[in-house]
Amino acid sequence: MTKHVFQTEVNELLHLIIHSLYSHKEIFLRELVSNASDALDKLKYLTLTEDKFKKINFDPRIDISFTDGDAGRTLTIKDTGIGMNEEDLIEHLGTIARSGTKNFLGKLSGDAKKDSNLIGQFGVGFYSSFMVADEVEVISRKAGEKDAFRWVSDGKSGFELEKTVKKETGTEITLHLNDEGKEFGNRWTITEILKKYSNHIAFPVYLEYEQSNFEGEGENRKEIKELKSEQINDATAFWKKPKSSLKKKDYNEFYQTFSNDFKDPALYVHTQAEGAMDYTTLFFVPEKAPADLFYADYKPGVKLYVKRVFITDDEKELLPTYLRFIKGIIDSEDLPLNVSREILQQNRVLDNIRKASVKKLLKTFESLAKKDKEYLAFYKQYGRPLKEGYYQDRDNRDLLEKLVRFKSSKVDGYTSLQDYVSRMQEDQKSIYYVTGDNEATLRRSPLIEMYTKKDIEVLIADDEIDEIILPGVARFGEHEFKSVNRSNAGDELKKENEDEKEPDDKEVAPFIKKIKKVLGDKVKDVKVSSRLTDSPSVLVADADDPTFQMQEMMRAMGQFDMPDVKPILEINLDHPILKKMKDMRKSKDFDNATELLYEQALLLEGMKLENPADFVKRLNEVLTKSL
Ligand code: ADP
Repeated sequence: MTKHVFQTEVNELLHLIIHSLYSHKEIFLRELVSNASDALDKLKYLTLTEDKFKKINFDPRIDISFTDGDAGRTLTIKDTGIGMNEEDLIEHLGTIARSGTKNFLGKLSGDAKKDSNLIGQFGVGFYSSFMVADEVEVISRKAGEKDAFRWVSDGKSGFELEKTVKKETGTEITLHLNDEGKEFGNRWTITEILKKYSNHIAFPVYLEYEQSNFEGEGENRKEIKELKSEQINDATAFWKKPKSSLKKKDYNEFYQTFSNDFKDPALYVHTQAEGAMDYTTLFFVPEKAPADLFYADYKPGVKLYVKRVFITDDEKELLPTYLRFIKGIIDSEDLPLNVSREILQQNRVLDNIRKASVKKLLKTFESLAKKDKEYLAFYKQYGRPLKEGYYQDRDNRDLLEKLVRFKSSKVDGYTSLQDYVSRMQEDQKSIYYVTGDNEATLRRSPLIEMYTKKDIEVLIADDEIDEIILPGVARFGEHEFKSVNRSNAGDELKKENEDEKEPDDKEVAPFIKKIKKVLGDKVKDVKVSSRLTDSPSVLVADADDPTFQMQEMMRAMGQFDMPDVKPILEINLDHPILKKMKDMRKSKDFDNATELLYEQALLLEGMKLENPADFVKRLNEVLTKSL
């Protein structure tokens, strides 16, 4: 017998489960039955595709039994699935592999730890059995192997492992129920929970119980106990049932069996296609985004079946990455059972299913968008991945451009691009946007002063990926996206300013030269602004240069060797400060004012000052003079 300790994260997860899920403790049974069903799926696949397993006498089933006698209360879940060998037991029931889950655990703190919905999102799995048991025993024999192993743990520090004998392939899990769990050693409770959570398991689930029969009369009357086994579920693939026979409630139930989510899905889409392509898809959108949405090793939510045989739940290409929040199944009648990963990734059949599925999902979202409140809730969860799609999925851009939303200078909340266009000025050609990371700063930024004055709407693009997607997508219909963070942004609007007097070059040129001299290589250039009305200065990026935010983002992504691209300082000659500066003689005051113009523009951009102490000193000198 060998002793093993749990990985730290397992301890954390155990602690979390026990303290946050006590009001849902019955879900342990759902988790164990769902694991058993997965194990059966895996072996079924092997028996159909690999010679080595074809001769196995495979009788897929899940048997549940219990004892409630003096010897203690136990509950046993047995499957005839793939089983686990020694390494599997150590790896699967002693560590947490996915970094998404690990990160998620790390981030939870305080009250969030008690939120059962949060923790339900990533599936608590096997470890939830320790909510109701003070000892859990797993005896398992892997398909195709002779040795069996016994894993036993009190769910506190670790587990013990030893070799044992087991006649059949598969896994048998026995829970020694504690006070919290004693109610589960009961036929009616178990039946009720199984019906609630596991009715849609595609393999038969049996419950074994003792039935007392009485024979004889009077003194001769005696009790005869008979062991009975009753099938609890109907064991058919849910998604193959005729759509007309299914109600919303059925879909919600199936979703919960399938996804580990406690909540009903936000929506579902069920397609049963026949004819040129023969397949079924059933997709769900969880009400809350999966916790690993933004991790590269996210767990794919869609499972692939071929003719009802489970093939894989670890294939990220079944839907485009931006739809990674979708949970569900794809079941094809046309694929061969032994599809390899390579075949999967360039298979025509699957490619067609994927294309049709994406369209169908996007069309469903489009209908949802007609209901403002519901769409907003949906968009809060999935706006970000949809924007990724808007950028990446050229084939469906016509659909995605109707789904993305942006904040805007003219509306509270979000606007669609169509709505922006409908509010455009008669002669306005472009769609203007300002990028930065703080909505409040952007709404009051000098960058958009001129637009506001002219009553032109500007999208407030405060999501860091806006900086990539808007230039990437380039246009919405006939309207080009234009960043107002750039020095040429106001050009097309300038014409209208022609009646305003052009600054006299003879006077302005030396003035600008003087400012440039003070700022040195802090700026790429100094220009007279056509966009400012109330502010004296603003920093912008040159027409083809990356903006501040873009540079920051590239650095955050590890591109440190990027050249430091300098901004352009635009000045407002009509502003009193600039008017006074023109007539200044003493160079010290002029230098201070110039530096302050640059520094205040930096601050308004949300950037850090290179030298705050110098800034404060300058400010104080100016204050002293003016007070
Ligand atoms: P999850 O099911 O979300 O992966 P669990 O903690 O429930 O997480 O299970 C961890 C792993 O242990 C499973 O992925 C599976 O590989 C293995 N496992 C659990 N139960 C069984 C079982 N009954 N038969 C075979 N393998 C199992």
